[in-house]
Amino acid sequence: MAQRISEKTIQEIAERISILDVVSPYVQLKQAGNNHKGLCPFHPDKNPSFVVNPERKTFHCFGCGVGGDIFGFFMKFHNVPFLEALRELGRQAGVRIEQQSSERDLQREESQRQALAANQLACRFYHDHLAEKTRGEIARRYLQQRGVQAESIAGFLLGYAPDSWDGLAQFLVRKGESPAMALSLGLILPRKSGTGFYDRFRNRLMFPILGTTGQVLGFGARALDDQGPKYLNSPESPLYHKGSNLYGLHLAQKSIRERDLVIVVEGYLDLIALHEFGFSHSVAVLGTALTAEQIQILQRYTRNFLLLFDGDDAGRKASFRNLPSFLERGISGRVVYLPEQEDPDSCLRKWGREPFQKRIDGALPLLDVFLDQQLGDTGKSLTVERKASALREVLPLINRIPDRLEQNLHIKALAERVGIEELFLREELADLTKRTKAGTALPKRIPTEETREPPEERMLCQILIQYPVLIPRFVESNVLESFSSHTVRVALAAILDVYREEDAVNLSRVLSLQTDPKIIRLLTSLSCREEFTREEATVALEDSIRRILRKGFQSRMILLNRRIAEAERNQQGDLQNRLFQEKQSLLEQEKTLLR
Ligand SMILES: [Zn+2]
Repeated sequence: MAQRISEKTIQEIAERISILDVVSPYVQLKQAGNNHKGLCPFHPDKNPSFVVNPERKTFHCFGCGVGGDIFGFFMKFHNVPFLEALRELGRQAGVRIEQQSSERDLQREESQRQALAANQLACRFYHDHLAEKTRGEIARRYLQQRGVQAESIAGFLLGYAPDSWDGLAQFLVRKGESPAMALSLGLILPRKSGTGFYDRFRNRLMFPILGTTGQVLGFGARALDDQGPKYLNSPESPLYHKGSNLYGLHLAQKSIRERDLVIVVEGYLDLIALHEFGFSHSVAVLGTALTAEQIQILQRYTRNFLLLFDGDDAGRKASFRNLPSFLERGISGRVVYLPEQEDPDSCLRKWGREPFQKRIDGALPLLDVFLDQQLGDTGKSLTVERKASALREVLPLINRIPDRLEQNLHIKALAERVGIEELFLREELADLTKRTKAGTALPKRIPTEETREPPEERMLCQILIQYPVLIPRFVESNVLESFSSHTVRVALAAILDVYREEDAVNLSRVLSLQTDPKIIRLLTSLSCREEFTREEATVALEDSIRRILRKGFQSRMILLNRRIAEAERNQQGDLQNRLFQEKQSLLEQEKTLLR
């Protein structure tokens, strides 16, 4: 790792923060013995295979094999580099981070920090202008007209970009921001003639787009006059990527996890209306269809998606575009079509909460809607050509469903509806699988248990993580050198190193010293297993030591016997005698050690 932050700082943060506080905002956890269990946010998980051990501050998924400590979880979940995880968790723990970094890292870090600070300033500038008595009036009036409440203005940090050429540009200069930075964030633009800059957003209602930890990444802006396009967003920048950010996620993330459902809409004001009416588990896409990256972000919180779309032809077509990614990721996608010319905002304000909720409760599975559209209500009376073309559309989709049971149910239903033999559909599907296999190989499953590692070696490692007090006995047995698995040996050696230094097994410290993912996986999986009682552990420890020693003797004996036989063949009497003596002493050793 290029950044050098003192080990002490990292450990201080790890000690002060509970891993449950880091994980549970995003994963519903239930206590199970010493561990907490939940559905894994990193793979389609049906039975809770995601385990968190609060005592050792580790997590491990027994389904897909990911694991780590609080930093590992934060990095993976929020998709941020180590340093950002460290900084954010450090902030939560109240630990100051002093770092010595390489020049280049320092620069990158510094420019990231400056970019966030500049966006933050701009956000404040817009927000303050919305409150300004005369200048902000036009925007306040618009919000009032649309029924947006004061709490939403505060909660979503809504703002107003005043109708001036360089209000923000000048403000940023006064605050000491570099124009180059503001330019790269798309806040200002260079003047077409002469020198200097002017504001990108003028006389617009501003919607700051926040990241999951509350940083201002970019802005969406709605025109309040007829200058330029109705909606204008920040351009792609080092902070803002419209395809991988979602509007409102910052406020919705907790609710999405709690309700295990996310509602996806298209507009900023639609999103705000949903939150105002209690549908706080909603997010909005930013002028694009739902992208693969956005789906990936959302599926860390839930696998139940509900799309709100316009009921016209274009809206239906747009909704179907999400079907393939939903199906192959095992996401349950449902859809509600609103009456033509209406959007979630107008419906909510017209109907009120209850009728809207009813509408949502009646959401239909997207795949069913698609089938209906392809086959019509009277599937069986279709012409042969129509049936064939419908099947060509539908079968590739069914082919993407990873869950075999679910796939079977769909084949059955489809056969019934089209009036075709199920067997025929299965054959077609098998052909399709063969043809598409080369192109769309499924991600390789990570083996959850390294089956090549001897169980007694894993067991010893697990016991010593749980009962460091048994480490002296383990060291005395000298058994480590007889381990046959390199991975377990390195993992245990690391545990012993930390124990020697700290007189305890601080697992997050052990993990921080590892780079090999195999070793990290082993350590996290062992730390999240069912625990032994002290008595069980002592018995298992002795038992495992004996087994490993015995195996060690056996393999040395096999080797010796082979060499003796070889010496005999080559008629090397002296060597043969020496080897015999060696064998004798090995047998003696075995007797004393394994009595
Ligand atoms: Zn998993």
